Formats: sequence, C-alpha cells, structure tokens
Amino acid sequence: DMKDIATASRTKEILSKYGFKFKKSLGQNFLIDANVIHKVLDKADVGRETAVIEVGPGIGSLTEQIAKRAGRVIAYEIDQRLIPVLNDTLAPYSNVNIINEDILEADIGAMIEEELSDFEEIVVIANLPYYITTPIIMNFLMQKLPIDRYYVMMQKEVGERISAEPNTKAYGSLTIAIDYYTEAKIVQNVPKAVFMPAPNVDSIIVEMKARQSPKVAVDDEDTFFRLTKGAFIQRRKTILNNYLSLFEDGKKFKSEIGDLLNAAGIDPVRRGESLSIEDFSAIYHKLNEFPN
Ligand code: SAM
Repeated sequence: DMKDIATASRTKEILSKYGFKFKKSLGQNFLIDANVIHKVLDKADVGRETAVIEVGPGIGSLTEQIAKRAGRVIAYEIDQRLIPVLNDTLAPYSNVNIINEDILEADIGAMIEEELSDFEEIVVIANLPYYITTPIIMNFLMQKLPIDRYYVMMQKEVGERISAEPNTKAYGSLTIAIDYYTEAKIVQNVPKAVFMPAPNVDSIIVEMKARQSPKVAVDDEDTFFRLTKGAFIQRRKTILNNYLSLFEDGKKFKSEIGDLLNAAGIDPVRRGESLSIEDFSAIYHKLNEFPN
C-alpha cells in the first residue's frame, strides 16, 4: 500500500523521481501533512454528491485526499512540468481530471456546464499560490458561477483582511468585495512546517459561503466598487477628502459631495474603515439620485 502523497517521505520520493525543482515564482509550497487536509475536508463536508474544483494541484497532495471523498475533482495546474507527475501520482483515482491551464484564463463556466452539471453541489478547494490569491478569488466570484462554497489556504494577512470587521486595521475594500458575494470566516491556522518548502509567511484557511444574491442590491457593480475602493485611498483621511481626491480639482465639489454623504446618512468626517457595506450601498443609491 502506497503512502499518502501528503507526507514528507513520499513527496521527496516524487520530487527526486522527476528531478522536480520548485518554482518560487509560481508559489509552489506543497502540503506534506494529511491531517491538515482532513480537517479542511471535514469542514467542507465533501461527499460523493460533491464536485470539487481545485486550483494548483502541485504533485497531487490535496487532490488525492479530495478524490477519496468527492464524486469528481477538476484541478487546474499552470506548470506543464507537473502534468506527467500528476498523471502518475493520481493514476489510481478515476474521478480526477487535470487541466493544464492558468486558472485566470480558464473558462470555468463552460467546464462546469460540460462536466459538473449532474452534481448537487460544487465546492472550490485550493492551497493557492500566494502571489495571486486575491485575483484568483475575485475572478471566481465576479463570474457568478454556480459554486456553493470555497475553502482556500492563503497567507494569514490576506485571510484576516477577507474576514475583517469594520474599525479594524485589516478592514478594507477587499473585505467589502468578499462580503458582497460571500459569508467569509477563518477556519483554521496552519503552521509553516506542513509545507515543503516551508513558506516564510504564516498561512490560514478561509471558508467563503456564496450568498444566494449579493448582500446589497446595486445595478452598477463597477461604480459601487469604485466607491468602496475610493474610501480607502488614504486610510487616515476622511471619506469626504478621499472622494474629493477622486476628481481633478476635487475641492470644487466639496459641498456637493458633503451633501450627498449627509443625504446618505454618513457624516463626511468619518473614515472609510468605519463604514459597513450597507453604508456604502446607501452612498451608492444617493449618488444615483443625483443629476450627474
Ligand atoms: N495543491 C498543492 C499542495 O497543496 O501541495 C500545491 C499548492 S502550491 C501552494 C500552488 C500551486 O498552484 C502550484 O502547483 C503552482 O504551480 C500552481 N499555480 C500557480 N499559479 C497558477 C495559476 N495561475 N493557475 C493554476 N495553477 C497555478
């Protein structure tokens, strides 16, 4: 009987068999502890009725454990060198498909329609490359795919920003964007020692449950997210001064924007970090009532 891929000994064996050298630029840190993985999969409640989309399977450490529980696993790996490795390590699991594609370029919607439409639920599980965690998550969420929940390993600081409360240092436009689409919370801390090579940052697993519909109703999401980002351009500045800096010659609009904020029930001297997503929604809807 073969050892789990997610062990130090088997991982070393696979790496040496293929002469594989880690690429730092692709965020390659492989899991060598199956206990961490089992905890996540328990939390994610993965069963045969579940289809899982994985980003970045590496040599298959996480993929193998998912395959033992899920109905189907579709894993996107950008690094071509890993494809023969994965074909070998995951050969015993007939419910796994590896796609050699950049997840940011992939047509995930079409894949779901073709491959996963028979499943009761679709879950994304990933130990993400840390250099593009936010783009990958936002790319999934903004496409409004039929995905039920996400369990994602990421750098601790990013996880804290995603799950932050207002009036904290970690709270910002990323918190609001995630809150718009999902209910997010931290599931567990993960020590550096469970990776090979060990990363130089701490890691955390975040759960994001997709909302049936966005938390606030806005027609024009671009404008809404411009308003949320604009409030945090300089964290120490008031919301009024941050919004004025969005315009060339912004000072000219001081009284208009002040009036707009007041009409939305927001004191213009407040800071962005004190505003909830509902507050931003109120500002957005007042803006829509104004002539231009
Ligand atoms: N899942 C494996 C594990 O837990 O041991 C590997 C995780 S490692 C942190 C991240 C993986 O994502 C690497 O295998 C890397 O090659 C892959 N990757 C990096 N950028 C990617 C992208 N844009 N699309 C798909 N995979 C990517």
